[in-house]
Amino acid sequence: MGCKAIPLVTTLAGFFGAAILSTAQQNFDRVEVQAQPVQGNVYMLIGAGGNVTVQTGPDGVLIVDTQFEPMAPKLLAAIRKLSDKPIRYIINTHVHPDHTGGNAAIAQAGVPPADGGGSAGGQGARVIAHENVLKVMSAPKTGKQFDFSAPKERWPTETYTNRKTIQFNGEQIELVHVERAHPPGTRSCSSVGRTSSAPGTCMPSIDTRATIPKEPLMA
Ligand SMILES: [Zn+2]
Repeated sequence: MGCKAIPLVTTLAGFFGAAILSTAQQNFDRVEVQAQPVQGNVYMLIGAGGNVTVQTGPDGVLIVDTQFEPMAPKLLAAIRKLSDKPIRYIINTHVHPDHTGGNAAIAQAGVPPADGGGSAGGQGARVIAHENVLKVMSAPKTGKQFDFSAPKERWPTETYTNRKTIQFNGEQIELVHVERAHPPGTRSCSSVGRTSSAPGTCMPSIDTRATIPKEPLMA
């Protein structure tokens, strides 16, 4: 059986191109972050752009995606309501700025996992993404449409190619690269994953255009 997508979707899909390119045109002042329980120790934060997954537990906090840069203080406040443990992992599903914009600020507020590999000079949370995310972010800036190059502070500190497994908070978290998923028409750098606390549930379904594979994501 394939996994079932939970409502961790962005309303931006379908017209994501123009909508996510310019944070300057958007006013985030009035955006409130709402937390919704998903299952067990997994929550979804809804704010602006892509949703954020939060997993909490005795080891700390793991989040998936960081929304637009100006949303970072609100996201941090919402995370702190769910857990006072350190943010140790940030996972990016893909490169779009409504999923990676808050990487630097949120990573800086965290601390690396026990085996290191943190951002912000090694002192911050570890940022993990598919290798294509780093390729796109670290490419020379062109200033053209769909230029998703980004400052170094936002880059992933660890990348993977096909799959990665993290043991955290007593759970196994699987990151799985999905070919030709999202962004459409570009080099795919999307991933979905799931935790053992939510069997049969993808976390997160990044955008409604993403294709969830029919075969099981977990071996
Ligand atoms: Zn996107």
